[in-house]
Amino acid sequence: MARRVLPVASVAGRAYVDCALHYDRLGFRVWTDSGLRVALSVPPPGTASSHWSHGNLMDFHKPRYTPMSRRRRIYEGKAKVLYEGPEPGTLIQHFKDDATAFNAKKHQVIEGKGVLNNRISEYVFQHLNDIGVPTHFIRRLNMREQLIREVEIIPLEVVVRNVAAGSLSQRLGIEEGTQLPRSIIEFYYKNDALGDPMVSEEHITAFGWATPQEIDDVMALAIRVNDFLSGLFLGVGIRLVDFKMECGRLWENEMMRIVVADEISPDSCRLWDIKSNEKLDKDRFRRDLGGLLEAYAEVAKRLGIMSEGERPQGTGPVLVKG
Ligand code: 5GP
Repeated sequence: MARRVLPVASVAGRAYVDCALHYDRLGFRVWTDSGLRVALSVPPPGTASSHWSHGNLMDFHKPRYTPMSRRRRIYEGKAKVLYEGPEPGTLIQHFKDDATAFNAKKHQVIEGKGVLNNRISEYVFQHLNDIGVPTHFIRRLNMREQLIREVEIIPLEVVVRNVAAGSLSQRLGIEEGTQLPRSIIEFYYKNDALGDPMVSEEHITAFGWATPQEIDDVMALAIRVNDFLSGLFLGVGIRLVDFKMECGRLWENEMMRIVVADEISPDSCRLWDIKSNEKLDKDRFRRDLGGLLEAYAEVAKRLGIMSEGERPQGTGPVLVKG
């Protein structure tokens, strides 16, 4: 049995230090840590790589459902839950109806939000895949869930800004709505206890959250995603003010590449109607503007995901805590 000490391995946003590497009975390479078993999509030695990517053994497009009650929950975040997937190296990403802001100090359940985010994020990720931007997305499974590849989440929130708004406006005193001279990329350290502080490349490399090469890859992806999203939304009368994305390390054989992970939805973007500047994003919740579900449904309708006649499902927001 081989054992290797990892500097920091993080799975689904959690950091695991000092993982041990084993081969299980079927020859899967498996990392273990404190009794937690994490199967990565790495083939046993001597296995043809085609079996493990898009080859005949792993057919991601064949439906294989595990009843909810028998699924193993890997991670629960504020708006999503990750479950063990049907194949090694896959996870199921479940979208909840919870809306949180200000580091979860504000929290409501908005029935139907998860369904809309699942559909909108599917649309964005499928298009990114189609144009050759690598992502964790495989396919949507149902109204609230999608099948994704398991990646090591890089503990950074990557924010791309085209127009001044939110924390940039507050921090630098720039009026909201001011067009920026060029798109700006910022990094925030994903850490709820610290309130996701802004960090520089120096912090990222010094603390080992990502290497300089990985930062270059992340920035290249961020620029491509921004170009694609800006055009996509402009085409349906929406200005992409800014957005947050996350990236992960995807291991294929001994190769690793950086892919876009998590979600891209009105929860993680600022989207303004091009004519009226009406907000069609989570600021409706953050700023108590109301009509969040209708705004998300409007985005879905304009993208052609929801038909004109369809109404968003939901009984309205339910206050969880103040
Ligand atoms: P700001 O730094 O202005 O608050 O946010 C910039 C952009 O990143 C906005 O589109 C905002 O929705 C998104 N963003 C920042 N932090 C988070 C986060 O923790 N979760 C989500 N879903 N989006 C975030």
